[in-house]
Amino acid sequence: MQFAFPPQPHACVPIAGRPHEFFPVHRIYCVGRNYAKYAIEAGGTGRDTPFFFMKPADAVLPVAHGTVGEMPYPSQTNDLHHEIELVVAIGKGGRDIPASQAIEHVWGFAVGLDMTRRDLQIEARRLGGSWCTAKGFDYSAPIGPIHPIAETGPMTHGDIFLNVNGVRRQFSNIDKLLWGVPDTIEQLSHFFELQAGDLIFTGSPEGVAVVKQGDLLEGGIEGLGELRVIVWPNFQASFSPGHKR
Ligand code: MN
Repeated sequence: MQFAFPPQPHACVPIAGRPHEFFPVHRIYCVGRNYAKYAIEAGGTGRDTPFFFMKPADAVLPVAHGTVGEMPYPSQTNDLHHEIELVVAIGKGGRDIPASQAIEHVWGFAVGLDMTRRDLQIEARRLGGSWCTAKGFDYSAPIGPIHPIAETGPMTHGDIFLNVNGVRRQFSNIDKLLWGVPDTIEQLSHFFELQAGDLIFTGSPEGVAVVKQGDLLEGGIEGLGELRVIVWPNFQASFSPGHKR
């Protein structure tokens, strides 16, 4: 088979402790309102069922261990928000996966940021429109190295936090997820056939807030290390495509 032109490089994420090996990304699924306190902050009751949305695979901004990711401030927003999240990396696909077997499908875990054009999301909510432009923009999914599950265990608990310029913005524990990792995989696998390479952003705890140009975001989850991202001014010309991965 021949391609009409060279295909785009495959989106991929570094792996902790394996500098020459990468996790190839298939799809990015995200869970909305998966912490009760954040659900209330976002205008819900805290008792609503979580739900799914997606980002394109190449929205990842992979950040290697010990480095600072560089995210250009996105166009078409004045209200960029951070959402620190536990990310599940799927290593074995399947459909209708029972929660009791879900952990067998997990390759590993990472710290991620579900960056959001909040003004566009609020507008979409008001108009009943789609979240595509609010959630699925380029560089909207910064992610740290994936830690293999053999080293992390099933990630049922652990502190999760985000600082902006050294000031604490978000703090919780992943044991407060409404759908923990097994339930999230079960629910998602009823809608989609999961594939090796899928990433699942499991949802943000409370404390989401605005990010300005020049801000340094430092987030982490107990057992998964830290993720650092600096948000640069939106000088498109200074970001060549080669800068992306
Ligand atoms: Mn989110």
